[in-house]
Amino acid sequence: MTTRELTCVVCPAGCRITVTLEDGAVVKVEGNTCLRGKTYAESEVTHPVRTLTSTVKIETPKGVFMLPVRTDRAIPRESLFDAMKQVRAVKAKAPVHTGDRLIEDFIEPGTNLVACKDFA
Ligand code: SF4
Repeated sequence: MTTRELTCVVCPAGCRITVTLEDGAVVKVEGNTCLRGKTYAESEVTHPVRTLTSTVKIETPKGVFMLPVRTDRAIPRESLFDAMKQVRAVKAKAPVHTGDRLIEDFIEPGTNLVACKDFA
């Protein structure tokens, strides 16, 4: 058996969680104050995911600016490096609205890279 110590990042309370694993499977979760912490801890030790946030260049009539972007779902943590390579290649062109999809099926089917700001 092995244990992993985590700090839950789901809410500001930051509970210290201990996960016990046996043959790669979670057998016990301790220290979480609520069920969300248990779900987070189980995911973090078996299939960690992250929401990617970044910026891309956007061309507007007033010049080139940086457009904040993010994935609309969390993606596997091991995919972040490849995801950032694709993000760096994106060049958006105004007009763009919050929620517009810049890349559909980004990294995984059903996940999109979306704009987080309006640019006219
Ligand atoms: S276990 Fe629950 S209360 Fe504790 S940090 Fe996570 S979400 Fe917040």
